[in-house]
Amino acid sequence: MQKPIHTIARIISRRIADEGGKYFELLLEVSQAAPYLPGQYLNLVLDGQRRSFSIVNLPEDLPRIQLLVERLPGGLASRYLDETPLGSSVEIVYPFGRLVPQTENAEHHVLVGTGSGIASLRPIAEWLVRNTEHSIQLLWGLRYRQNLFWHDWLERLQSYRANVSVMVTLTQPDQEWSGLRGRVTDHVGALRLGEKTAVYLCGGKPMLDDMRQLLRAVGVPPARILTEQFHL
Ligand SMILES: Cc1cc2nc3c(=O)[nH]c(=O)nc-3n(C[C@H](O)[C@H](O)[C@H](O)COP(=O)(O)OP(=O)(O)OC[C@H]3O[C@@H](n4cnc5c(N)ncnc54)[C@H](O)[C@@H]3O)c2cc1C
Repeated sequence: MQKPIHTIARIISRRIADEGGKYFELLLEVSQAAPYLPGQYLNLVLDGQRRSFSIVNLPEDLPRIQLLVERLPGGLASRYLDETPLGSSVEIVYPFGRLVPQTENAEHHVLVGTGSGIASLRPIAEWLVRNTEHSIQLLWGLRYRQNLFWHDWLERLQSYRANVSVMVTLTQPDQEWSGLRGRVTDHVGALRLGEKTAVYLCGGKPMLDDMRQLLRAVGVPPARILTEQFHL
């Protein structure tokens, strides 16, 4: 894996991602391009503090890096990235992370995320559809329909080929929602969990703990489960 480098990134563009305005996308241009693996992340250095954000796009887009940021009330980095003028520069260190595509002994890939956790699952899924014929199931959980984003990408992924499927579940759906309901853990039964399955989990600690427990109960070896914990 590439050794992390310290460099500067210029903020090129910013765009609200969802109807509810909870997430925004940011496009950066880095001064020094470091090859990274799909699913890896960068650390933003701000006032001497570090905050992690997954790199949404694939390495071939370098020196452009796309981020997906959740607006957190009182969040040091999310507020800075939201408000700092376009053209500003930020200090970053990258790449980091072990949540990357696992192709050895795997033919089926199950990706489960909640909220902004989709940011590290998207590049993994995108890389897998482009570079393998493996089957993929993406399960993404959110609270409200208004917070759903990347509709076009989800549709594109789903239509890539017959063995790629996307499931979105909402814990607090409105009447317009006709899709899955409940937490991601409610839909474990829909996942194909065989010997050649690689599982990728990304989100908050409670979801990761619950998923690990459920997967263990159905016999998925811990070594087949890769996780990235975004927050407590
Ligand atoms: C490897 C890794 C990759 C990550 N990738 C992304 C990403 O791509 N996009 C993204 O938006 N986040 C991502 N995160 C999560 C992000 O790093 C944290 O949410 C971070 O705290 C945000 O920094 P901040 O300065 O905006 O908020 P902080 O100043 O750190 O936190 C502000 C307040 O929000 C609370 N808080 C922190 N995170 C959350 C949360 N997720 N939900 C609810 N409350 C929270 C804190 O306890 C605090 O009270 C990632 C985390 C890790 C470890």
